[in-house]
Amino acid sequence: NPLNGAQFVLAAHRISQLPADRGAEVAFAGRSNAGKSSALNALTGHKGLARTSKTPGRTQQMVAFSLPPLAQGDGNAPLDARLIDLPGYGYAKVPEELRAHWKQEIDAYLHQRRSLRGVVLIADIRHPLKEFDRMMLDFCFETNLPCHLLLTKADKLSRNQATQALAAVRREFGEGVQASAQVFSSADGTGVEPAREAVVALLRR
Ligand code: GDP
Repeated sequence: NPLNGAQFVLAAHRISQLPADRGAEVAFAGRSNAGKSSALNALTGHKGLARTSKTPGRTQQMVAFSLPPLAQGDGNAPLDARLIDLPGYGYAKVPEELRAHWKQEIDAYLHQRRSLRGVVLIADIRHPLKEFDRMMLDFCFETNLPCHLLLTKADKLSRNQATQALAAVRREFGEGVQASAQVFSSADGTGVEPAREAVVALLRR
C-alpha cells in the first residue's frame, strides 16, 4: 500500500499555514459525517490517522498528512506527496458565517494550490450529490482538476442497489468535468484497493 506510512503534519485554519506548496497533493472533501475520516484511515491503513468525530463539524480545519516519497519510475526523483483533509462541510450546527468562510477557503485552496493534483470527494452512497458535492464538482470543473468520488457506506446497501446508485451518479456528472466514481466501504473494505490506486494516479498526474 503506497499510502501506508501517512503521518500527521499540521492542522491549518488558512491556506497560508499549509506546508510549502511543492510536490504533489490530493485533497479529501465531503459533507460532515459522510465518512471522510474513516475513508482516510482505511486508505492509509492507519486506524487513528484522521479522527472520526462524534460531534461532526466541530473540528473546522484543514489537516495535512505527509506520505512516504512516491516512486515515479522513468528516472525522476521520488515525489514529495501529501494528503489534505478539508474541513467537513454542511453540518447543521455550524454557524452560517463559518460555513461561508469555509466555502470561500475551499474555493481559494482549489484555485490557488499549485501542488494540488486532484480531489477525492466522499459521499454517502445512500444520498449522494447534495449541494456541497455539486459545488465541489463545479469547483473542479472550473479549476480543471480531476475529481474521484467515493460512494461510501456501500455496506449499507445490497450489491445491486450499490451498482444502481453508482450508475445514477455517473449519469449526473456534467459534460466536461473530469470525474470518476466508485463504490466504497470503510467498514467492509469494498473498493479500498481501487481507491488507493486512484489516489496514487492523481498524485503522479
Ligand atoms: P466524517 O465526518 O466524514 O469524517 O465521517 P466519519 O468517518 O467520522 O464517519 C461518520 C460515521 O459514519 C461514523 O459513525 C462512522 O463509523 C460511520 N461510517 C463511516 N464510514 C462507514 C462505512 O463505510 N460503513 C458504515 N456502515 N459506516 C461508516
